[in-house]
Amino acid sequence: MPRLLIATKNAHKTAEIRAILGDAWEISDLTAHPEMPAPDETGTTFEENARIKAEAASHVFPGIVLSDDSGLEVDALGGDPGVESALYAGTHGDNAANRARLKRELIACAAPQPWRARFCCTMAIAQAGRTLAVCDGRVEGHMISEERGDGGFGYDAMFIPDGYSETFGILSSEVKNTLSHRARALAKAGEILAGLRAK
Ligand code: IMP
Repeated sequence: MPRLLIATKNAHKTAEIRAILGDAWEISDLTAHPEMPAPDETGTTFEENARIKAEAASHVFPGIVLSDDSGLEVDALGGDPGVESALYAGTHGDNAANRARLKRELIACAAPQPWRARFCCTMAIAQAGRTLAVCDGRVEGHMISEERGDGGFGYDAMFIPDGYSETFGILSSEVKNTLSHRARALAKAGEILAGLRAK
């Protein structure tokens, strides 16, 4: 079976990607490769950071690498937290602190509800230090200034996707994995990966 490295230490991202891609690949992520240096995410866009992560890992990993750079854009906050979603409150990946800051910012903002927002995901596919393809996905919805549900991760408990009345924290992972930003980026990336696998 061909090997695919997901260039992340975020177990939630890996689980979602694994659930969507199925068993066509032998999937691992950076938790299984502590020898790989984590590059600085110095990009100002999701695409730049996705490329940085995929290319860095593919210099070391002898197969195909898939990266995911993602985040939340809230219109009432001028697009914040955006590419800074993981470290909105100061410590990378501190989801509870990030949600606490987002609640404060939403309550303090002057904009009327509903607070329109979207999750964005850019995936890069790389091999031998070179990006072969980049794919985007997004899911539109709105924010609430409280948490509902404990499913998912990150800002899921505060985001209600369009067409639903509950947050990603309450909706099942099966539902999230059919309509999320990650699922939509992966629908495109999956076709490219299938072509690479067939070579
Ligand atoms: P990255 O690891 O630099 O791509 O940052 C991703 C951050 O965006 C995460 O730490 C979360 O705060 C947020 N995020 C990305 N995707 C999701 C999602 O599917 N649900 C909730 N939050 C997400």
